[in-house]
Parts: sequence; C-alpha cells; structure tokens
Amino acid sequence: MEVYTPDAEVERLELISRYKELRRAVEKITSDKEELSQIRKAFDLAVDAHKEMRRKSGEPYIYHPIAVAMIAVSEMGLDSTSVICALLHDVVEDTEITLEDITKHFGQNVGLIIDGLTKIAGVFDNTKSVQAENFRKIVLSLSDDIRVILIKLADRLHNMRTLEHMKREKQLKIASETMFMYAPLAHRLGLYNIKTELEDLCLKYIEPEAYEDIVAKLTKTKGVRERFISRFTLPIKNALNEQGYKYTIKGRPKSVYSIYQKIHQKGVPFEEIYDIFAIRIIVDVPLEVEKAEIWRAYSIVTDLYQPKPDRLRDWISFPRANGYESLHVTVMSPTGKWVEVQLRSTRMDDIAERGLAAHWKYKENNAVESAMDDWITKVRETMEAHMEGEAVDFIDAFKLNLYTDEIYVFTPKGELRTMAVGSTALDFAYEIHSDLGDHCLGAKVNTKLVPLSYILQSGDQLEIISSEKQSPKEDWLNFVKSSKARSRIKAALKEEKRKIAIDGRETFDRKIKKLKLNYVEEDLPKLLKYFNVGDSMDFFYRIGKGTISSQQLKNFYTEESKKSWYSYLAAKLKRKPKKNVTEAKDNFESLIKEYKREGELLIGDSKEKLDYKLAPCCNPIPGDEVFGFVTVNDGIKIHKITCPNAVQLLGNQSYRVVKAKWTGADDLAFLTGIKVNGIDEVGIVNKITKLISNQMKVNMRSIYFDSNDGVFEGRITLFVQDTRHLDELVQKLKKVEGIISVDRMNETQG
Ligand code: MN
Repeated sequence: MEVYTPDAEVERLELISRYKELRRAVEKITSDKEELSQIRKAFDLAVDAHKEMRRKSGEPYIYHPIAVAMIAVSEMGLDSTSVICALLHDVVEDTEITLEDITKHFGQNVGLIIDGLTKIAGVFDNTKSVQAENFRKIVLSLSDDIRVILIKLADRLHNMRTLEHMKREKQLKIASETMFMYAPLAHRLGLYNIKTELEDLCLKYIEPEAYEDIVAKLTKTKGVRERFISRFTLPIKNALNEQGYKYTIKGRPKSVYSIYQKIHQKGVPFEEIYDIFAIRIIVDVPLEVEKAEIWRAYSIVTDLYQPKPDRLRDWISFPRANGYESLHVTVMSPTGKWVEVQLRSTRMDDIAERGLAAHWKYKENNAVESAMDDWITKVRETMEAHMEGEAVDFIDAFKLNLYTDEIYVFTPKGELRTMAVGSTALDFAYEIHSDLGDHCLGAKVNTKLVPLSYILQSGDQLEIISSEKQSPKEDWLNFVKSSKARSRIKAALKEEKRKIAIDGRETFDRKIKKLKLNYVEEDLPKLLKYFNVGDSMDFFYRIGKGTISSQQLKNFYTEESKKSWYSYLAAKLKRKPKKNVTEAKDNFESLIKEYKREGELLIGDSKEKLDYKLAPCCNPIPGDEVFGFVTVNDGIKIHKITCPNAVQLLGNQSYRVVKAKWTGADDLAFLTGIKVNGIDEVGIVNKITKLISNQMKVNMRSIYFDSNDGVFEGRITLFVQDTRHLDELVQKLKKVEGIISVDRMNETQG
C-alpha cells in the first residue's frame, strides 16, 4: 500500500488530467456540443459536491466517479447520459445535493437513473438480509432503465480494483458480495470482460495464495505458450490469407478464476489443463454472410487439424440468451495437445467483449435483441412471482436463472423454446402455460411417452399430456428447475394447504367437543410446541389431514393438567417471563448486537465468553483464516474463509458475521480430513497408515480406501493441531512412492 500525501496543487493538476482523459474517451462516442457541455456541468457539480471527501486510500473522492464514468464509456461503450450519471452516482447519497436538483439541471432521464442508483445504495449495512434486499432492488431496476445496473456494475468494478485499501473483513465482505451477485449479473448481461475481471479480483482477495500461485505459473509458462501459439496459428494464417480473409487471430490465456476452478473443483493439475488458453479467430465479414463465412473458416481450421467430435459448440445458430455468439471447436495440435479454437465475426466479438451496450449498436440483429428481451421478461415474471416472498428466497430463484446454460427444445408445431440445462418435461409445461403445468400428467418426447420428471435434451420435441383432474403435488418441487414453475407450484400447494387447514379447524372443534375437553385460545401456542409444528395453519392442516389423532389430543390435555400444577408452584417461586416467537427473534437480533460488541472472537481461549462451535461443513483447524457466523439456535459457528458456504454467508447475510481468530493457547487436536490418490501398489495402505500414526504420531479416526483399475483413492479423517501440522503431514505423504496427490477435504463425514 502506498502512502498518500495530499498536495493541493498536485491534486488540482491530476484532476485536470483525469478529466481530459475522460473527455477524450467521450469525444470518441459523441461530438454533440450540448452533450459535451452537460458532461462538463456534471463534472463541475461532482467536483464541488465531493470536495471535502477522500477515499480510504487518501485520494480525493472525485477520482472514483471519474473512474466509474471512464469504465462506462470506454469499457462498456455506454452513452453520454450514462457518463453524466456515473459522474453523479454518489452525489445524492453522500452529499447535500438532492434528486430534485439533479432532475432540474440534467432532466428526467438522468434523474430516474440517479434515483435508481441511490435506491440500490441507500439501504443501511446492518438491517436484515440487506444484500438480498439490495439485489432485489437491482433486479427491479432492470425493468426501468438497464443503465442503472450497468453503472452499478461499473461502480462495483472500480471498488474491486481499489479494494487493497480496505480492511481485511471489509475486503472479504465486498469480494463475497461481488462473487455472489455482481459477477453472475455481469455474466447474464453478457459483459464477459467485466465478469472475468470481477471474478479474478474476488479470488485475489478471498484466496490470495491460490491466486498468486496461478498468476506465477501463467507468467512462467508465457514464453512456451506464445511460441506454441505462433507455430500453431501459422498454417491457419497462410490458409486464411490465401482465401482472401480479413481477420485477426488472438491467443489468450483463460482467466485466473476459471483455471482455479479447474484445479480445485475438477482436481486437474495446472500442467494438465489443456484449455489454459484459447485461439480466437475473428473474421471481418458483412452481416449477411457472417454465418457462412465462419463455417468456411471452420472448415479451413479442421482441414489442418483434426477436431474432437464431442467438443463442437455452435452458438452462431443458437446464440446464448445473454447474446453470446461464437463457434467453438477443439482440435488436435501436431504436438498431441488439444487446443480450443473460437471462431466469430467482428460484430460477435464486440458483443462478446462489451456485452449489452454493444447490442444497441447492432440493432439490425433481431435474434439477439429478442433473446435479451425474453430474458428481461423472464426476470420480471420471476420478480412478480416472488414479490410477496422472502427476499432471500427470491435470490435463490433468480440466481438459478443467472448462470445456467440453455438447451433448445421444440413444441409440437416446431416452435423453438430455450430452457435451462436440467429442465424437465414439467418445466416445459409451465413454460408453455401455467395452467398446462398445473394439470400436466406426462409428456411425449419425440412421440415416446415420458414421466413429468424427464430431463429434457437439446432438440427434443415435446407434446404435453394433461388432465383437468391433475393438480400440483408436493414432490413436483423435487424435479422442477425453473423458478416460474417452482413458485407457481408452491402457491398452489399453499392454497391447497389453506383449504385443508380451514376444514381442519372445524374438525378440531368437533373433536374437542366430543372428547369433552376445555380448549381456550391460550392453549394454541402450547399445542404447537407439543406437536412440534411451526404455526396454527400447520397445526390445523395436520388435524385436517388426520395426522394428529383424537388420542394424541387427549394425551396433550392429560399432560397439561399435570404440568399446570407444577408450573403454578414454579411461578410462585420464580417469575420467569414466557418466551414467544417474536421474543425469540428479538433475542436473536440482540444476541447478534451483543456478539458484535465483543469485537473479535478468540477461538481456543478458555476465558472466551461467547459460545461457538466449529462448522461441520468445512472443519476449520488453527491456522485457517476463519470467521464466526451467528446461527439462530446454535450459537456461533466457525467457518473457513474458503468454506463452500462462505460466499453465501458473507455475501448475503454479512450482518450475522463475527470476526474470529485462533489464539493457539490450548493444546487441542482438531478433526480434519485428507484425500489421497495414487497408483495401487502392494502395501500402499500400510505405508500410509504407518507414516501417519507411527512417524507423525497423528491419531486417525477413520480410514477408507477404494481402488479401481490400478488406481486408488483414500479418505482419512484424523486429528491435527493446526495447519502447519497438517501441511507437514501432507508434504511427507506426497513423498511416498505411488502417491500422486494429497488434498484436504472439507467434509469429514462419510
Ligand atoms: Mn460509488
């Protein structure tokens, strides 16, 4: 971190130079005098409004809105209105200037966008599921003006680029939020460059070591890679030249994050990832012939190099819903390595690189326009369906729609429908019409009868079979994928449940009368507790369904009459307030406040007043970077920063997060798990266990080995003191002959 010493004159000159840079970028998109003068006016206003403010780095605050405006115009290709809004994006939220002032000076359009941006930002940090609520607001604004979201993304990108100046907890919170919401959103809007940079930056702050490791390996292999690329592309270039193509060829490594995912999720070592880079061929051809020309280029490439049959991705005939168009093929190089080649036109490349904004430039391409419109319509439907529900629920539903890939299926009339991968016949029925979904019995796929749960394949032609007698069933929720179908089924089930509960209430009254029991309204909370049901609707539903019998009701009253005598005595002796549901909730909120007041949670400190447990999903051990998460019923749970659930917890419910640190004071052993892979040799299990227990003196709790065709996988759970201890063991195991990899496991069960 560099130390920043403000110097008024230096800063004034720097500000002028930054403005000039922005001005030059804007002049590339407009020469309109009026627009340019409005931008100048916005700049002057922002400079004045933020003049007393500084960023965490110590720099004048105004550098931030200028940077955001710069991203909007040169990285996203947005218009001059967006530049004005980017310059003013923090003004209403952070300074004296009001929305009315903005509207008065810059007009209705700018006013609406700034309002949207302020609303997104205006939610305080420690209210309930604030991120979920924020996210809902962001998505809501999709239907107003898409520029609100694009500027918000530019804002987030600049904040991520300057994250180094923040405290560690703040870095983790912002990075997790970005991973959780903004990167998927950028992906969905087709802003590939921005999505990639956001993900890389998130990784850099969430897992700095893994990030640096990959960056170092990429740098080290750069020379070899470049020589390979130029040798590989030479014959292609010659052939394209001969055919008179105008084109560009790029060979670029994939993003650090995507490499990281290959290594950590699929377990492929860096050296063996064949698609660490891709060759991109961009042909400059007119719109009318671009598809034919790309296929011609494809044929040139595959004449030179053998293609891998199952690795052809045709997104030029079927663009992805976010507008991405490209033809991907994997071919065999003369050195025996698979290489991915991406073929596209200049227009397609522009859209792929800059996303949505670029769509506007190519208005004539209706297919992409309507794909984007379709998506926004779908988003709106999802929103309407979840309007009354919990915000968190809404995010889960919405996220499903963000990252999923699509397949293409057809109606009996041959109409094309785009569905998410993993969609079932039932999803398709709901996609056609909600009523058709509710009454769906099954489907005919390519004339063959299939069940509701049938998973659709690209190219399937479906006919839905329905009956008026059919109605939504609980188990449908197990296999529907789309949020539209899901919320429709849930609503129908709730309605059904409500009807049964109303009947149940009558049944209940009848039973009470028949059993000659004396029921008063105050008994209800006790009944709910006794039968372990959430609310009165659940209770009467179970009565209606007959799962609570008359005998059980009778038992309750017998026990109650016994208890009431004791509780009378107990109350006499000690006045203890009764807890009801709202009280428990208040209690939870105040508990969080109390935890936060305590500051940092010291794990392993026997004097620590707070109650905590190590989370079973990631089994942290001393040395791991950790945080505490306040649970409703079970005190604080300690998770690793790299826990599979961490992004969700930190990004979405950060108000429940407590700082935590290991003290290393106690001499305890912690449960952890390792996974060992290798070549199955005689005595390998013996060698491993000997090393662990005799040489390292580590206690094992369980050991499990599975071998298949000469290779084995072993899962061992054991007790260690801390990460150093574990690392030492891992290093020793790696040296054992026959062992290929040793990895830590999150889960220690199973
Ligand atoms: Mn900002």
